[in-house]
Amino acid sequence: MLAFNVAQLLKEGIGATRRYELAGELYDIDEHNPGPVSVQGHIQLIVTPEGVLAIGEAELSLITVCPRCLTLTESRVTVEIEEEFYPVIDVVSGRPLPDDHDDEPELLIDERHTLDLSEVLKQYAVAHTLKPAVCRPDCAGLCPVCGENRNFVSCSCETRELDPRLAALAQLLEEPDTEE
Ligand SMILES: [Zn+2]
Ligand SMILES: [Zn+2]
Repeated sequence: MLAFNVAQLLKEGIGATRRYELAGELYDIDEHNPGPVSVQGHIQLIVTPEGVLAIGEAELSLITVCPRCLTLTESRVTVEIEEEFYPVIDVVSGRPLPDDHDDEPELLIDERHTLDLSEVLKQYAVAHTLKPAVCRPDCAGLCPVCGENRNFVSCSCETRELDPRLAALAQLLEEPDTEE
């Protein structure tokens, strides 16, 4: 589960706490990553004067694309979670609470008292896929002539033998200047 009903917890008042296992999958991470990203971890929920603080740790299994050979690689990253969530209605009176946090909809506890960590975890996943890692340190990349993956196929194209690190550098230098 990545979403929890916190009605009972909120009724217990400030300082009340619960601990849950996190397990689930995230979809539609962003336009480049349809997912799924699987999540494993744990979370502690603590009632604060304003809402519920979520503190924990999760392991995300991300699919990334190697920038040299374009192979899909699964990588695991551990993220620390620390976010405060805010209820939209008062759990006792049922009345709406001031909408001070409308600019962060992912941090709202909805009118059914559901605290959902999915959107926050997606943001962590996006942050970790922005800089994709090479599939392995010595990845030989694609042949610039025939496009074969040189990690698996040794083609007979006429190319200068370069150290893979230099090859990556050369590739960078060949790319046209892009505006920051
Ligand atoms: Zn690679
Ligand atoms: Zn080739």
